[in-house]
Amino acid sequence: TVTYNFEVADEQHTQHIAQQLANALKKVANQGVVVHLEGDLGAGKTTFSRYFIQTLGHSGTVKSPTYTLVEPYELGEVNVYHFDLYRLADPEELEFMGIRDYFGDNTVCLVEWPERGGALLASADITITIKLEENVRCFTLTADSKTGTGILAAAFA
Ligand code: ADP
Ligand code: MG
Repeated sequence: TVTYNFEVADEQHTQHIAQQLANALKKVANQGVVVHLEGDLGAGKTTFSRYFIQTLGHSGTVKSPTYTLVEPYELGEVNVYHFDLYRLADPEELEFMGIRDYFGDNTVCLVEWPERGGALLASADITITIKLEENVRCFTLTADSKTGTGILAAAFA
C-alpha cells in the first residue's frame, strides 16, 4: 500500500496538506471519492476538513457536523458531504438517513469517525489518520484503492 507520513507542527501545515490533496483529488472527483479521517477528539480532523472543503471551492465557513451527522456542500462541479459519525448511536441510523444516496459520481465524502459507521459506510479510497503527540500531529495518509493511489501520487509524489 501507498503511505505518506507528515509531522505537522501548525495549522498552516495542515492547510498545505489539505490543499495538495484537494487539488489532486479534484481532477478525479467525477468518479466519486471517499476519504476517511481517523484520530481522537481534538486530533485535527475537522480543521483538516475545513481547509480541504475550502480548496474544493467552498468560500464560507465549515461547521463541524457533530450534531447534524452530515453537512452538505453543493459546489457546482462537485458535491461534498462532510460526515461526523461520533454521535451515531447505531450504524442502522445510517440506513434511515439514506446513506447510500450520498456516495456516487461527482461526490466527495469526508468521514470523521468512520469506525462508527459499520458495514453500510462506503469503503475508503484514502484513509487519513492523525495522532496528536506532544508538539506535533502525525498525519498518515494511506491509499485504499486504485483511485486513492493515483490521488496520493499526484498530490505528494
Ligand atoms: P477533531 O475534529 O479531530 O476533533 P479539531 O479539528 O476540531 O479536531 O481540532 C481541535 C483543536 O485543535 C482546535 O482547537 C484546532 O484549532 C486545533 N488544531 C487542529 N489542527 C491543528 C494544527 N495542525 N496545529 C495546531 N492546532 C490545531
Ligand atoms: Mg471533528
